[in-house]
Amino acid sequence: MGASWIHGIGKGVQGLQEWKNKYNPLYQVTLENNIKTLATWKERDNGEYLFYWYKGGEMTYDVGTVFKLFQNSLEILQDKANINTSLKEMYSKFNLTQKTSSGDAKLDQNIKDYTFAHFCGFEYAADADQISGKYISNDYLFLGPEHIFPDGYIQIPITLAKDLNVILNQKITHIDYSGEYVNVITDNGQIFEANRVIVTVPLAILKSKMITFTPQLPQSKQDSIEKMGTGLMDKLYLEFQDVFWDEEADWLYYISDGNVKWGITLNHYQYTKKPALILFNFGKDAREFSELSDEDVIRSAMETLRIMYPQATDYVKYYRSNWNHDQFARQAYSFVKVGATKEDPLNIAQDIDKKIYFAGEHTNFNFIGSAHGAYISGIDVASKIIDD
Ligand SMILES: Cc1cc2nc3c(=O)[nH]c(=O)nc-3n(C[C@H](O)[C@H](O)[C@H](O)COP(=O)(O)OP(=O)(O)OC[C@H]3O[C@@H](n4cnc5c(N)ncnc54)[C@H](O)[C@@H]3O)c2cc1C
Repeated sequence: MGASWIHGIGKGVQGLQEWKNKYNPLYQVTLENNIKTLATWKERDNGEYLFYWYKGGEMTYDVGTVFKLFQNSLEILQDKANINTSLKEMYSKFNLTQKTSSGDAKLDQNIKDYTFAHFCGFEYAADADQISGKYISNDYLFLGPEHIFPDGYIQIPITLAKDLNVILNQKITHIDYSGEYVNVITDNGQIFEANRVIVTVPLAILKSKMITFTPQLPQSKQDSIEKMGTGLMDKLYLEFQDVFWDEEADWLYYISDGNVKWGITLNHYQYTKKPALILFNFGKDAREFSELSDEDVIRSAMETLRIMYPQATDYVKYYRSNWNHDQFARQAYSFVKVGATKEDPLNIAQDIDKKIYFAGEHTNFNFIGSAHGAYISGIDVASKIIDD
């Protein structure tokens, strides 16, 4: 119920010369270890999608064009943004009347809101007033098709952990780096002594002070930890007896009249032939849902599905993530928040006295919020330790 996709299995990353002709290292792991992956759609942003809306039935608006117009206007507005400009501020300047190939088009406010919420929520798992307008679109993806793992993403950590001594089920509460060695202390009082330690807990855990440090982390690192944003996204998997939706589509979108709670649904049937859908929510909606019971969350999702498909049947099985209440996560993935800069992830990544090092998606400005970002940060820090 966390990551599904390898974001791009082609070589290279547009805008990052250092990755020219190089594969996403996670994809490389799948190639080297014969881990099966499956294309969800042939090219990025080229999935088959259908839009339903609050007026009933399929929407006739060309949302793809609205989205492109929005992205073009963002590129212009981004040049003028400073670190305190939120994405919301930039978005508010996006005109409802737009020039399209067929003349001037007046957009429905709800479509504008949807396009915007989709952009913020799916990319950043956050709300627009929180996201830095200056740094949007700086989280890079690899080129080429997006792949999923028919047998689960878990194969990646299992493969990488082969031949390593991994000790599970230890809750770390304190790290003491005041002496020659670093002591890592767990909640049951166990002490692990090491020459060097890499801290890879999520940003939200660092913020929560679940782990204390002796001496305290340098103030500038603490400031950067505070300045960066922790996003929330949750998935609801609903399995049915039979498919009652458009089985050919990859994505089923719903544009509501101002309330975008269940705007994005993935047609799982397309890839697994199981009659199942995965519904997404994010940002403040995800925070609200995280406080609700499974029944209430599913009821809300089913209400939306029944507007889209009045013939929708009851579900037979469900899984629900609640990352906010996972005590070892407390977030989905990180983003550059209003007021933060690209220096902040770098600052969090900075080692202290060559004794404690930091890695994880939140330390990788270029690939923040992704599984490949986390993996690349780990490779980088391992090379640094070898050099040190
Ligand atoms: C819903 C969702 C969908 C996503 N979809 C994608 C996707 O399709 N593609 C993609 O590339 N990325 C996706 N991501 C993002 C991706 O999963 C993360 O960026 C990545 O897993 C981050 O890796 P990490 O190693 O930095 O942190 P984590 O994977 O969070 O690892 C941190 C580890 O620290 C442990 N920990 C925390 N506190 C303690 C403690 N006190 N003591 C001991 N251990 C502790 C945790 O248990 C965890 O094992 C998604 C994330 C979510 C939530």
